[in-house]
Amino acid sequence: MYNQCQDILKLGEARGEAQEKKLLSVIIPCYNEQETVPIFYRAISEIAPELNVELELLFIDDGSRDRTLDEIKKLSEKDERVNYVSFSRNFGKEAAIYAGLQSATGDYLVLMDADLQDPPSLLPQMLHEIQDNGYDCVATRRVTRKGEPPIRSFFARRFYRLINRMSKTEIVDGARDYQMMTRQVADAILSIGEYNRFSKGIFEWVGFKKKWLEYENVERAAGETKWSFWKLFVYAMDGIVAYSTVPLVLSSVLGLLLFVVAFVFIIIIIVRTLVFGDPTQGWPSLACIIIFLAGLQLFSIGILGQYLAKTYLETKRRPIYLIREKKIASKETESVR
Ligand code: UDP
Ligand code: MG
Repeated sequence: MYNQCQDILKLGEARGEAQEKKLLSVIIPCYNEQETVPIFYRAISEIAPELNVELELLFIDDGSRDRTLDEIKKLSEKDERVNYVSFSRNFGKEAAIYAGLQSATGDYLVLMDADLQDPPSLLPQMLHEIQDNGYDCVATRRVTRKGEPPIRSFFARRFYRLINRMSKTEIVDGARDYQMMTRQVADAILSIGEYNRFSKGIFEWVGFKKKWLEYENVERAAGETKWSFWKLFVYAMDGIVAYSTVPLVLSSVLGLLLFVVAFVFIIIIIVRTLVFGDPTQGWPSLACIIIFLAGLQLFSIGILGQYLAKTYLETKRRPIYLIREKKIASKETESVR
């Protein structure tokens, strides 16, 4: 009888402990990552015992065209901690991050790339900062760009300089999407329901107590980067348009400046004609001025167009992503809530 009681007590204690353990959701956006998904899984499984939390691995298949989803399904069959959301097409990493934050059930959430460029070895420290040091969010930044083409690094640096001059929200050079956050921060990020998402800006905009960890760049474990130079350029432009209206001000200021210059020229020409008569001269310079101004006007209209396009897309209020299939075990049991 006594033994039975003790057993029941022990069971109760064990349950209590299990309940106390927090759940960490690891969100992994994947686009054509068939080679890296198993490698990533192995790396996370290795570090898991060092973490004093329960784990949930939430893979977001961003409309991959290769066998990524099959690889994820294989993992989820043998490990119940593996969940997934699969999009109807490629919606981009930003959409995948949003979907991940929305579907994850953890008390803490961490965003990680599938290619192991976000070192899992930082996870224990990140957890420690949140659990013991009272931080809401632990972000990471690469301090080197080793292994990246120099031209790409050069333009990346220029971009961060430019956007930080133009925008009130600080966009940190080298900041990764590799961040761990509390549920509260995730909810804050989710409350920003805009369609044109620029996560680097959103993460800063929401604020909260944030700790930065630095690390050296790690090269991809396998597969290829999804970012061409052109894609990065468009991403940079999107970032500027999303986080600054300075280009609009610039084009107005330039317009005003040219108006003043033109006015001074008119006065000079009138005075000159009155004093020296009116010999027909200077058509080449006139042609140049017309082309110059026409170019400037088109440029300004282009800037205006960028903002209008974003507003247009935003007003459509389309969903950020569409799901084709998913498996979210822990949520299903909670769906009664
Ligand atoms: N990714 C995604 N959707 C995309 C492009 C990329 O989900 O449209 C994922 C990709 O699978 C990877 C992460 O985002 O896990 C980072 O992509 P990548 O490694 O190509 O970018 P890089 O590290 O070169 O900046
Ligand atoms: Mg990468």
